[in-house]
Amino acid sequence: MALCSIKELLAHAAEGEYTVGAFNVCNMDTLGAVLAAARQERSPVILQMSMGARRFVPSIPAFVALMKWMAEETPVPVALNHDHCPTPQAAAEAIGWGFSGAMFDGSQLPYAENARQTRRLAAWAHERGACIEAELGRLPGFEDEVFAEHADFTDPALAARFVEETGCDSLAVSVGTSHGGVKADGPLPLDFGVLGAIHSALPGYPLVLHGAASLPEELLRSVNELGGKVPPVRNCSEEDIARTGRLGVCKANMDVDNFLCFTREVRRVLQDAPEQYDPRRYLGPAREAFAEEVRHKMRCVCGCAGKSWL
Ligand SMILES: [Zn+2]
Repeated sequence: MALCSIKELLAHAAEGEYTVGAFNVCNMDTLGAVLAAARQERSPVILQMSMGARRFVPSIPAFVALMKWMAEETPVPVALNHDHCPTPQAAAEAIGWGFSGAMFDGSQLPYAENARQTRRLAAWAHERGACIEAELGRLPGFEDEVFAEHADFTDPALAARFVEETGCDSLAVSVGTSHGGVKADGPLPLDFGVLGAIHSALPGYPLVLHGAASLPEELLRSVNELGGKVPPVRNCSEEDIARTGRLGVCKANMDVDNFLCFTREVRRVLQDAPEQYDPRRYLGPAREAFAEEVRHKMRCVCGCAGKSWL
């Protein structure tokens, strides 16, 4: 029995001043990789799906059942979260399928409307034992259907008022990270001043960092040296993300770096052995590279390795 509530995972992280990694999955390989990493690192973990992944899997109810089945077989705390639901209906649907919680992104709406929709959804979810993550402020970059050109940092006083008014279980904040990276000369600066002020306004409350993959230059280069043409975008550094656990960040969404590792291995195998056509020949190493990157994030960035209480 390792399927836990998101609330339980976030409360443990807040208490221990570390961050639980939320890793996006979209098939059996990525799902297996994240759970293998969590098992090996004795780490709590959040399995996450986006709207895009939800459409990508051939059957979402079947995939949720598979996630739950595999979570139960993994002897560390696991929770399932649905990322970036554009409407309360999409979030409610996810909870109906069995997700432990969902993120409703009303950050594009005027404050009062975001608060009104989040409050209604959170009350509905709480009756079903599920959690709602909300968002205030805006991250730059593109993720699924969410696009914003410029950052709009979260206002600390407004964040405290929003949590009070809505009863949301966690809050995604904009403090410098971006969805999928943006064009820049160096790593994006994470604004510890704003993050510290939000943490002071909401002591002990779980904050969430979206776009917490770092797109390290060496990783991008390794993909592009194997024939890739991934644009050279930047994001906040792993060193900066690693410092946020002590400032209330209890959950960090990380997917791009894992995807890059997966793609690098597919490219490597097909380049080294072009005679191969059996998917297992390239998906096996890709899955392992994905798991290795997740382990690295758990150990060196999130600080969640070894934090399992089961
Ligand atoms: Zn996001």
